[in-house]
Amino acid sequence: MAFTRNDVYFSDVEGKLFLARQLFDEHSTELSMQPILSSQLAKLKLVSQVLHEQMASMSLSVFCKACAKKAGGGCCSAYMANETDAFLLLINMLLGVRVMPQRNDSFECCYLGDHGCILFVKPIFCLNYNCHSILQGNDPVALKNLEKISSAVLLQQIAIENILDAHFFSKKNR
Ligand code: SF4
Ligand code: SF4
Repeated sequence: MAFTRNDVYFSDVEGKLFLARQLFDEHSTELSMQPILSSQLAKLKLVSQVLHEQMASMSLSVFCKACAKKAGGGCCSAYMANETDAFLLLINMLLGVRVMPQRNDSFECCYLGDHGCILFVKPIFCLNYNCHSILQGNDPVALKNLEKISSAVLLQQIAIENILDAHFFSKKNR
């Protein structure tokens, strides 16, 4: 199927999800045979696990749950769903996530499920843990670690997005 970078990065939430599904259905087999992509995905899993452990050690889910209960609280607003792009959703699918909208309202992000975000790989803005509650309620050393690890996750995500970009746009869609 023909598509452009504009479709990948700048279509609406539904358009990006539709494209990601098409790419997964049509290309997941060929992508799974690329050793570089497989090894980068494995690295992403590792650094994401470290981030998960760091967040758990700081009880971030407690902060976020308390925040989300307040009026207008939480940062998983409907607006944020459009911070995803089709390659990010495709990466989630390649890692085995069933990427399905969890809600259809104009308040919360459609990827926010009953137990939190369903995405394993999250948009850049969702990896910014520098809100007031978190900055005020945590030890500076833990915050520094969190920043370091979330940067590593982000760099790894960008590396994989670049591989996908080169795969799809260096051959046919340019
Ligand atoms: S990251 Fe901060 S603003 Fe967002 S839900 Fe958690 S505590 Fe609230
Ligand atoms: S963390 Fe997940 S649910 Fe929250 S805004 Fe980001 S993508 Fe949406």
